[in-house]
Amino acid sequence: MNFKNLTIKEAHKLLENREITSAELTEEFFGEIKKRDKEINAFLSLAENEAMAAAKKVDARIAKGEPIELLAGIPSAIKDNILIRGAKATAASKMLENYIAPYDATVIEKLREEEAVLLGKTNMDEFAMGSSTENSAFGPTKNPVDLQRVPGGSSGGSAAAVKAGFCVYALGSDTGGSIRQPAGFCGVVGFKPTYGAISRHGLIAMAASLDQIGPITKNVDDAAAVFEAIRGNDKFDSTSVKKDWPDYWNEPIDIEEIKIGVPREYFTHGLDSEVEKSVREAILKLEKEGAKIVDIDLPYSEWALAAYYIIMPAEVSANLARLDGIRYGYSKIKNSEFGLQNLFDVYLKSRGEGFGAEARRRIMLGTYILSAGYYDAYYTRAQKVRRLIKQDFDRAFREVDAIISPVSPTVAFKFGEKTHDPLSMYLSDIYTVSVNMAGLPAISIPAKEAYNLPVGLQLIGDSFEDIKLLKIAKMAETIIKEKI
Ligand code: GLN
Repeated sequence: MNFKNLTIKEAHKLLENREITSAELTEEFFGEIKKRDKEINAFLSLAENEAMAAAKKVDARIAKGEPIELLAGIPSAIKDNILIRGAKATAASKMLENYIAPYDATVIEKLREEEAVLLGKTNMDEFAMGSSTENSAFGPTKNPVDLQRVPGGSSGGSAAAVKAGFCVYALGSDTGGSIRQPAGFCGVVGFKPTYGAISRHGLIAMAASLDQIGPITKNVDDAAAVFEAIRGNDKFDSTSVKKDWPDYWNEPIDIEEIKIGVPREYFTHGLDSEVEKSVREAILKLEKEGAKIVDIDLPYSEWALAAYYIIMPAEVSANLARLDGIRYGYSKIKNSEFGLQNLFDVYLKSRGEGFGAEARRRIMLGTYILSAGYYDAYYTRAQKVRRLIKQDFDRAFREVDAIISPVSPTVAFKFGEKTHDPLSMYLSDIYTVSVNMAGLPAISIPAKEAYNLPVGLQLIGDSFEDIKLLKIAKMAETIIKEKI
């Protein structure tokens, strides 16, 4: 059996039918990780004992003939900015190199309720800042499709782990594209739910008004299954909402009733022509099957990246301020040759050494943006642009059911190609950041390859229409797969 390509539903069936035990499955994955992850570097830490114990518990229940949840006994991987009690949570930063999480994130609690098996924590860009996983303090992750290339980021370890067959599914986080872009680069499915659909409690905050946890999976059904398990209102996250979600599994969507918008602004300069071809081909196939395709305008998209790079660093600087080498984080006090230095020196040395270059860049940028005199000129203005971006989408969704676009303007690039030019790196999020600015749900599914590399197709839905979006994505996935 090829366990590497197993989906959640397939694995669940095998477990229920007792064709394999969860312990066997878990061992298979650990075996694969040990064999191949030295090269790929998808994982920062493994939790073998805990995972095997969880697997055996599920096996015992199956042996007794008890019914099990869909995710029970199924091995998964968790991005290293999501807290698992007793496990390291470094967020791929030297700052948190020795930090052991004292509690479970709400999403982890929910996975535990389902008796999921957690194999370990995955690599990422430091504090989720980046688009290639090259900003990890613990070395980059390689794209399993082509080891010369980045897996995308910041959830690059999670996407690589799913693609490499190191786990059945993974959790990532998305602040400006960090689930969708790596999923696109690795050829898997990545779903960023509506802001507020999933509790962020226990997610190490990057930019709290944009961050959202979501699944990286092998297909849309699995994304829906994980979403069902981890969503919900939580008293520890006041931005999480209470909602009766519609059912995903029954009543598939009728393609002839679906209207999909193609934003003119997303198909202009900067978009690789082969990527464009692949996306346009997918759109054509949907049209042929009966979907109504219309051009739409999102005029403020042009300012999305600029506004994102004001709002996000402002929040980053505030969120990371606690990592000062005194209350939290890598500290230079203990190692000091001088005994207790002055406070400023402690901050300077601890933060200077603990944070990598990209984190320092954004903290400085954010601190500047929030300083007196600049706050209104930059931050307040960017917030106004954010509102206009949301209004663009509101207008569009009065007309269409979903919006379709590329996930990123290029396929996975080579290591080092963009590290010396932050702006070119930031541009790989040009089609994804608006979605976070507007708080919308969006999913990346594989389209036809370009240059023999995966291309991600993005579908964006209206606020809290996550289930409708997933159904549309499922339909698109089926059509594109059949016709590739
Ligand atoms: N790549 C984007 C950035 O660097 C998005 C990161 C994310 O979504 N966490 O900010």
